[in-house]
This record gives sequence, C-alpha cells and structure tokens, in this order.
Amino acid sequence: MYNLPLCRDHFISFFHKRIRETIEKYKMFGLEDKVVVAVSGGKDSLALALALKDLGYSVIGYFLDLGIPEGSAFARETVIRFGEKFSIPVHVEELRSVFGYSLVQISEIMRRPACSFCGTLKRYYMNRFARSIEADVLCTGHTMFDEATVLFSNVLQWKEEYLFRQLPVLPEEQGLTKKAKPLAFITERETAIYCFFKGIDYLDLPCPLSSGAKSRRVKLRLLQLEEDSPGTINRFLKGFYSFKKKINFSSFNKEDIQPCRECGYPTTADRFCSVCRMKRKLSENVSRG
Ligand code: SF4
Ligand code: ZN
Repeated sequence: MYNLPLCRDHFISFFHKRIRETIEKYKMFGLEDKVVVAVSGGKDSLALALALKDLGYSVIGYFLDLGIPEGSAFARETVIRFGEKFSIPVHVEELRSVFGYSLVQISEIMRRPACSFCGTLKRYYMNRFARSIEADVLCTGHTMFDEATVLFSNVLQWKEEYLFRQLPVLPEEQGLTKKAKPLAFITERETAIYCFFKGIDYLDLPCPLSSGAKSRRVKLRLLQLEEDSPGTINRFLKGFYSFKKKINFSSFNKEDIQPCRECGYPTTADRFCSVCRMKRKLSENVSRG
C-alpha cells in the first residue's frame, strides 16, 4: 500500500511502527498484558507474533491442528520450528483430541464442506485456550485484504449483526476474550517482505480444502479491483470504519447471548452452542451408521 523504497532496517521499523499505531489507536492491549496470537503457519500470523514480540509484548502462540491431510502436519512443524527459532512459546492442540474428530472426518460425516465448520471450531478452541491461561487478548493475523473480504461479503448479504461487530478490536464479553487484529491495515505483501527480512520460514501453500471456499473467490475479485485501481481496498475499509463512527449502531437489536448449558461458551442459540450441537449431531450420525 505504501510504495516507499526502504532498506531492511527501515522497512522493519516502519512495519513495527504501523502495528504499534494500530494497537494504540484502537486500545488493543498494553505491554503488561498477556497476548495470545493464533498462528496457522502462514506468513501473516507468524509475522504478527514476531513483530509483537519485538515490540516488547508478552506473546504466546496458539496452533490448532485441524487434521487436514497434506496440510496440518506441515503447518504444525512450521509453527514449532518458528517458536524454537524466535523463542516464542507455542501451544499446540489437536482438534481430534479436544473435539473427538478431525475436520475431514466432520466433513465426511456431515456431508458438508470442511470450510463450513472450520471457522467456528477455530474460534471456539482459540478462545477456550485464551481463557484457560487468563490471557488479556487474543490476536489473529487478519490483514487488510482479509478484513475487506469479510466486509464485502457482509455488505453483499446485508448481514447487519456482522457489520455491527466488524472492528479491529472487540471487547471482552460474556465468556469471550477480547479480540484484536493488529494487522488490519497491513497488506499481505508487507507481511511477506517482513518474513523475508526477518528470516521467518512460513507455509506458502493454500489449504488443500480451500478450493470450495467462497471467501477465497471474493478475495481474488477484490485483489483484481485493487490491481485495476491501487488503494481501493484501503479506502473501502477505512471508509467503512469512519462511516461506522457516524452511525448509531445501538439501534440494532443485539441478539441475546447466554452460556451454553453444556460447556459454558457464549451462544445466541436456545440451549447449546454451535460446537456442542455439532458434537451431538456427529455422534447421532455415527451411531445411525
Ligand atoms: Fe479451514 Fe476452509 Fe480455510 Fe482450509 S480453506 S483453513 S478448511 S476455512
Ligand atoms: Zn457448548
């Protein structure tokens, strides 16, 4: 987004400065806070974890092994090597151990694409980990293009509740750890350059299950728009955040949130959260054969 010819050291300082400015502007967290970074093995989350550590924050990585063939094992090795190389603790959990099924098994049993469960499970287990260690904030490596993709999809379908909740930071509420996206104004090209300069080895392969992901198609279209008219995505996203400040979103009815009767995770459903409902459905399907 910034076409500045910078040498290695200046690029790194510039990258750190912009992250620190986002953290401070949106009051994401402070130096005394315990920060969990959800790492996937990709460039964005690893760049974020190292940048935060270099900025002096206390960082713990969290990796959920989804059990995706030809994907999760490489990603797991990558995050473990990253943690060792840069002295960042990384907690690894396996979906199969904590949930009972891998993502592929869930998809096969439910006869639905893996992507339709993936986000829900990741959010649930990363929040559960953050709460278990009493972390102050949970950070994800969503970049400007990721945020613009989500915004664009939500606008296309006028998902008011999601538009209301889309912000670079979400406060702690009813069983959910505070969430922050310090890369919300950073591009993926910039995280790739940062990884190169800092010697971060990352996984540069798309998820083997991504071919059916709708968000990927939306993102490719947005990238096309950006190529045709550079700066479009930055204007789209920043314009949305400043527009939001002018709107009285309190007029939107927020759905009632209550703790799941099984696990305590906050849910808008009647009794059980989506993960507990998924677990029940899976065991019913398995016992039916
Ligand atoms: Fe999950 Fe789908 Fe993304 Fe793969 S492409 S990580 S299955 S959401
Ligand atoms: Zn539950």
